[in-house]
Amino acid sequence: MSARILIVEDNQINLALLKYLLEYAGYAALFAANGAEGLELVRTERPDLVLCDLQMPVMNGYEMLRALREDPDVRHTPVIAVTAFSMRGDRSTALAAGFDGYLSKPIDPETFIREIEAFLPPELRAPRPTG
Ligand code: MN
Repeated sequence: MSARILIVEDNQINLALLKYLLEYAGYAALFAANGAEGLELVRTERPDLVLCDLQMPVMNGYEMLRALREDPDVRHTPVIAVTAFSMRGDRSTALAAGFDGYLSKPIDPETFIREIEAFLPPELRAPRPTG
């Protein structure tokens, strides 16, 4: 059974790219437009992995992560920050905040799936297409 992956992202273009790459690789993609919606979906849908933008309206990625980690039902969900801040130090800030991983935009379609699969147990990885 391939993983169900939640994308929390307020930018439609980034969302479309992530959704396309995940679905093409055989994953089920769920979507939320801000941290509040994302938190709600984590609680109701229990995704296997969350990809989370940092700058979003209503509730940003850091606020969502904090609320998620305070909820014993979902606190162990792996959450990867996906952000356009490619300033030196952003990665360590995100990891210090408790994100399990960090990917910087622009997303590289060649390596994206391999990078996120590092956060999935083998039984949740999609089979590789053959041929
Ligand atoms: Mn954003």
